[in-house]
Amino acid sequence: MPELRNCRRCNKVFSYLAGLPICPDCVKEDERIFRDVSAYIRENPGVSLHDVSDKLEISYDKLIKYVKEGRLQVLASDGEFVNFCEKCGAMIKKGKFCKSCEYHISNVLDESKRNLQKKLVEIEKDRNDYRFLAHDAKKR
Ligand SMILES: [Zn+2]
Ligand SMILES: [Zn+2]
Repeated sequence: MPELRNCRRCNKVFSYLAGLPICPDCVKEDERIFRDVSAYIRENPGVSLHDVSDKLEISYDKLIKYVKEGRLQVLASDGEFVNFCEKCGAMIKKGKFCKSCEYHISNVLDESKRNLQKKLVEIEKDRNDYRFLAHDAKKR
């Protein structure tokens, strides 16, 4: 049984069967854009994503979405297929994360290590304080 849903894109109510939660009109629109993009790429082999986005006035994110869906493929300048960062979705050549996420992740790790160290130092300090107090108390 089809259920009624609001289109994710234009908010129109439509009967949803399967696949993307967007209405048939938006699917058609999507197909049209995709056809334009693939035609443009065929006519301009090796065109950059930025150029396509500029010339056809399609958002860069939309192009990335096509690539992620496996409908378009992107090669790096050295002919390698590109990957996507698992965290932010940026295009990368190797590994799981882009440089900035990798940097961020290692920093977060460092940060938690630093915090742990600080905590240990604080505990040490606490102990020292206690001892000092006890010493003081004895004096009295
Ligand atoms: Zn729609
Ligand atoms: Zn990233």
